Amino acid sequence: MSTSNLRTNRSKEIFTAAQKLMPGGVNSPVRAFSSVGGQPIVFDRVKGAYAWDVDGNRFIDYIGSWGPAICGHANPQVISALHDVLEKGTSFGAPCILENILAEMVIDAVPSVESVRFVNSGTEACMAVLRLMRAFTGRDKIIKFEGCYHGHADMFLVSAGSGVATLGLPNSPGVPRSSTADTLIAPYNCLESVKKIFESNRDSIAGIILEPVVGNAGFITPEPGFLEGLREITTENNALLVFDEVMTGFRISYGGAQAKYGIIPDLTTLGKIIGGGLPVGAYGGRAEIMKMVAPAGPMYQAGTLSGNPLAMTAGIKTLELLKQEGTYERLEVITSRLINGILSAARATNLPITGSSISAMFGFFLCEGPVNNFEQAKKSDTQRFARLHRAMLERGIYLAPSAFEAGFTSLAHSDTDIDITITAFKESFEAIA
Ligand SMILES: *Cc1c(COP(=O)(O)O)cnc(C)c1O
Repeated sequence: MSTSNLRTNRSKEIFTAAQKLMPGGVNSPVRAFSSVGGQPIVFDRVKGAYAWDVDGNRFIDYIGSWGPAICGHANPQVISALHDVLEKGTSFGAPCILENILAEMVIDAVPSVESVRFVNSGTEACMAVLRLMRAFTGRDKIIKFEGCYHGHADMFLVSAGSGVATLGLPNSPGVPRSSTADTLIAPYNCLESVKKIFESNRDSIAGIILEPVVGNAGFITPEPGFLEGLREITTENNALLVFDEVMTGFRISYGGAQAKYGIIPDLTTLGKIIGGGLPVGAYGGRAEIMKMVAPAGPMYQAGTLSGNPLAMTAGIKTLELLKQEGTYERLEVITSRLINGILSAARATNLPITGSSISAMFGFFLCEGPVNNFEQAKKSDTQRFARLHRAMLERGIYLAPSAFEAGFTSLAHSDTDIDITITAFKESFEAIA
């Protein structure tokens, strides 16, 4: 291929300045491109399937702000609804009917949710759900899986995915031993180790939290029987099953992974899509459990900006758009076409690869499959991924800057966008082979 016509002067300038102002130049680690090398691209604006950077390059975007942009960036209907509500003020700190509307939509859509509390991020949702698991069961221990990410609260920063996996960080300094002493770790897709943990911790495990489809250790799907098995084991042990659907909620299907697989957890966390690009998280579940939350019950949790009218509006509009006939069928079609194109492009150049997609979520690892857990995911050739990432950027395709993050499509990606992307993959695999 010819040399790149990617212009990066302005991005470099801004990022160099940013490094003096913010740790690593960013406000969230993976954005810094540390694991793929090179300078990050500084964005100027986004629309539909595209992002434009400060040097005037346009990219077809497969991150979608890490998930929220499933209806396309800056969707005109979401933006127009935001304009309308903006005039009424940005935050009330008091009840507003928009909270009822979004709550009702979430309760109707997500099978396990009978009652819901809105917060401001996925991290906050997971932090609160952990407190609730412990409050309801009167037990302290929890099980989480290697490579799953549940936000950055202390108790979850053991064998975590996302940026922790991307940067190969050991368990973070600043997390006291006592905070993670009750966090028990199992390999994903391994029911045997979960059973063993329950056997050696009788009547002291509050529950299990997991990504029902993993997106933070790369894209890893549950093996047949895994989710069912977790449901049985938790029920037998009077422990709670919690699906962290911050990423998969309204993405794997309108009702999330739990609707797709027909497994109903006791509690669910949500985020990303339900905020339509504004900061939102939520946790919800059986009414009996949610009744523990203040002021209905004794478990304290609060938030100054929680349920603010802007975030609620973006969420409501986004869910309305997703609820329309045929949206998930469309997402499924383009995403499976994309991943099949990626796999055959790699195979045509004899590069080892394994990957798959569900609905609007996809991922691949540059190694021989299968990849069913984080240990296997780590076989992925991260150096080759770094070169692939750069080659794709030069061809106008913006992929997650990490071998351990899922990719996302949106309703705004056209068939032509997908074709262009597959061609770019073909050229890039050839360029790095
Ligand atoms: C993104 C994510 C979180 C954290 O959400 P933030 O809004 O980034 O705090 C938690 N769990 C999962 C599964 C996620 O993908």
